[in-house]
Amino acid sequence: MAVLLGKWDGRPITISVKRNCLTVSIEQAQGEPDVYSYDYAGRLWTAQLESTTYRRGLDGKMVAKWMRPDRTRGRRWLAPGEARAEVEGRARAQMLALYDAIRSGAAALSGSLDAQAQTGFERAIAFDADRSAADAARYLDVYQPVGILPPDQYFSVVLQLAEGCSFNTCTFCTFYRDRAFRIKPPDAFREHALAVRDFLGDGLSLRRTIFLGDANALVIPMKLLLPLVDIVREVYDVDRLGGLYAFLDGFSGHKKSASDYAALRERGLKTVYIGMESGHAPLLTFLKKPGQPEDVVEAVRAIKAGGVSVGVIVLLGAGGQQYAAAHVRDTIDAINAMGLDMDDLIYFSELVVSEGMDYARDAYDAGLTPLTPEERIAQGEQIERRLRFSPDGGVPHISRYDIREFVY
Ligand code: SF4
Repeated sequence: MAVLLGKWDGRPITISVKRNCLTVSIEQAQGEPDVYSYDYAGRLWTAQLESTTYRRGLDGKMVAKWMRPDRTRGRRWLAPGEARAEVEGRARAQMLALYDAIRSGAAALSGSLDAQAQTGFERAIAFDADRSAADAARYLDVYQPVGILPPDQYFSVVLQLAEGCSFNTCTFCTFYRDRAFRIKPPDAFREHALAVRDFLGDGLSLRRTIFLGDANALVIPMKLLLPLVDIVREVYDVDRLGGLYAFLDGFSGHKKSASDYAALRERGLKTVYIGMESGHAPLLTFLKKPGQPEDVVEAVRAIKAGGVSVGVIVLLGAGGQQYAAAHVRDTIDAINAMGLDMDDLIYFSELVVSEGMDYARDAYDAGLTPLTPEERIAQGEQIERRLRFSPDGGVPHISRYDIREFVY
């Protein structure tokens, strides 16, 4: 990485030319500096303006996040038009003015811009409102909108081996209600994998892993799955891109053995994310989540025996007060039976109920009392406190998962 320091109009500036992105920081007369980061295709992917952080998705939508005075997080989604006008336009105007100033000598730098930095500036400047709108439209040609990813996979290259969820019954989940489940035939998948590569272009530099979509690519039977994974390897340098990651969700389908997972590990599979939600079977039934807690434990054990890591996702607040004690107790038991270690992850994801969601209707019919946000957090802490791991294997990474901040 090359870092150039300088002054422009009396304001200190920093230009970081990283392997994966170009970041420009411009001090302001008051408050925090403006910071813009671009991928090398010219897409603004993150900006920091007046203590608000913006993150642009490939679909052109943008999430704005800030800390409120009471230290809670504020969050707002900007529609693509608003994001282009308010954030991308401002960023581009500053990049254009700064680049002109550097070339004319009006901005003094500690060194000269190398070819990569010049390309970064020129592509960011060329990525105007029309180009941004066209790019977002192209995303929809290449993808079925990506519903959700684990938080450590927001910088993956998503490849939709399958579309949708083969179950689509869970009352708290609306991510895939807009599409039928289908496994892509090899030729269609190869075309998709190539189109994604072409769409991301030099922005591929920002991507750290490959995520096999959609909701549960690993329910695809091995005889169909392996040829699709081989196509991924044919189109992408899987090892250089950090390996393969995927969800496995719902456990009543084709079960894979430890040797199946070992075969997938040989092809680059690193981590499987499992939406267990709860270890309490009656709660899973209430949520219309397919499978039983023991199916999840069995699947985790098979995955780990095959040499692949797991990320287990627990849904905080599910079932309200009425299910809370049993949800905590049985979830602890289930996780403690999995044999997780330091290579694994546990995510606590708060239940987010939106209008029209089946969960809202079922909870109302059942007379459930929802947990407050503080109680949901406390529920996660209660579970975490009683998890036990083998001293030999170490402790998994445990963190929060806020689906409201998902952006791809
Ligand atoms: S199995 Fe997963 S993706 Fe499918 S409906 Fe349930 S929570 Fe959503």
